[in-house]
Amino acid sequence: MSERQFFGHVIDGEEVPSTDGATFEVWNPWTREVWAEAAEGSAADADRAVASARRAFDEGPWPRMARAERAAAMRRLADLMEERADDLAWLDTTNMAKPFAQAQHDVARSVWNFRFFADHQRDHTGEVYPMDSGHHTYSEYGPAGVVAAISPWNFPLMMATWKVAPAIAWGNTCIIKPSEDTPASVTLLGRLAAEAGLPPGVLNVLNGHGSPAGSSLTADDRVDRVTFTGSSATGRAVMASASSHLAPVSLELGGKGANIVFEDADLDNAVHWAVEAIFRNSGQICLAGSRLFVASGIYDEFMDRFVAAAEALTIGDPFDPATKFSSLASRKHFDKVSSYVDSVPLDGGKVLTGGVDDEGRWLVRPTIVTDLPVTAPAYCEEIFGPVCVVNRFEDEGEVVALANDTRFGLNAMLFTENLSRAHRVASQLRAGTVWVNCFFIRDLRTPFGGVGDSGVGREGGNFSREFFTEPKAVVMQIRR
Ligand code: NDP
Repeated sequence: MSERQFFGHVIDGEEVPSTDGATFEVWNPWTREVWAEAAEGSAADADRAVASARRAFDEGPWPRMARAERAAAMRRLADLMEERADDLAWLDTTNMAKPFAQAQHDVARSVWNFRFFADHQRDHTGEVYPMDSGHHTYSEYGPAGVVAAISPWNFPLMMATWKVAPAIAWGNTCIIKPSEDTPASVTLLGRLAAEAGLPPGVLNVLNGHGSPAGSSLTADDRVDRVTFTGSSATGRAVMASASSHLAPVSLELGGKGANIVFEDADLDNAVHWAVEAIFRNSGQICLAGSRLFVASGIYDEFMDRFVAAAEALTIGDPFDPATKFSSLASRKHFDKVSSYVDSVPLDGGKVLTGGVDDEGRWLVRPTIVTDLPVTAPAYCEEIFGPVCVVNRFEDEGEVVALANDTRFGLNAMLFTENLSRAHRVASQLRAGTVWVNCFFIRDLRTPFGGVGDSGVGREGGNFSREFFTEPKAVVMQIRR
């Protein structure tokens, strides 16, 4: 008898297997064992999920509900998530080897996504513009319809809720397809949505692979919005597919974040955040500070401290409370990251610390690299792992040019105690988010997204409202 857990699709408020009964194995990357199975979504399952969301939107109560009532339902879901927080975190840790404390942090942020957007849709209902002509115009933000959301494996629950929460808050219905590598926590979210009393079809979960499950969703002309987070290559395929029926897309794609440490930085703070920015979640963060630029005057001191801090990270079982760093999320991803590390000496670079684990685990140790030419793949491509490439710089103009010399433009960080420089450099960096003297702090009211190959569009606060609604202008004559 198998003791494996099973994660089905959640369609129309019920957890169901695939139409043809197909399943796939779900791995624990730390133990390198299969611990669960999930329903393998086919085109027929995607069709069922879209039909359910469509029905719930066209005929169901959700888009027609009073805003306060919708907010209350989302709050019930958030409360249930909080009650089950450790179960949700356990699933993400088991599924992708994220240290448990980090998974708990992600769950708290996921809960907040629902609470924030429950309030946001009540507080930001529209604008009124009295006109000199004797008219008066107001805007209305009605729901767009059915939303297909496709989320990645690096923050399985958090990235999914970042899409689902604003989508349903604004009265849409949705289908979320988690990555095939991490189906567990999102399936539990679907179960909790039913328990919280969300009407059937409002929050559907479709498990399965990018193709056919994901690609069937994006190509379906009953889908009104597509929101995707993942690689730039898949983002292009998603956009092309959605364009066949002119569905607007929101794409949050790869990154190669620049982290700039100026000579006048508070070094304790800069070292702390440099470590977090590239080694948190084993570097599997689109926002990772994977290109580090250090001012020449402090280079030696900074590097001594940075290497020591990287080497001090406790590596191990992600459920051990002492663990700060664990294995990569899958065998496939381990192979990808390892091949970049292996390429470093061949391209003339030096590995100062770290490297591929030699005990057979799917682990790449916190790795710091210098002396790589800017054309080397490990320097300019997204590795999405714990590999930091370091360069030194002489002055502000040089480092701004180096930082902007990339196809990506998701985020950047800079460390300085000089206020004028902080503002001046932040405004010159070509990136969707710039963190000054910090990293990974997020206010849900602000725009989030990337420039260039890092994405299309912005989400967050009113930016999510623009994407997930059909804004309308109503013009009324007041005086004749
Ligand atoms: P992908 O971009 O391939 O996958 C992301 C999501 O898209 C998954 O749910 C995937 O499903 C789905 N998908 C794949 N192909 C299609 C398609 N044709 N239509 C619709 N959905 C699709 O990322 P990977 O997981 O393969 O990771 C590869 C690289 O992408 C990483 O090494 C990293 O560089 C980058 N990445 C960036 C992320 C970010 O946060 N910006 C997040 C994750 C990855 P399935 O998993 O079943 O293939």
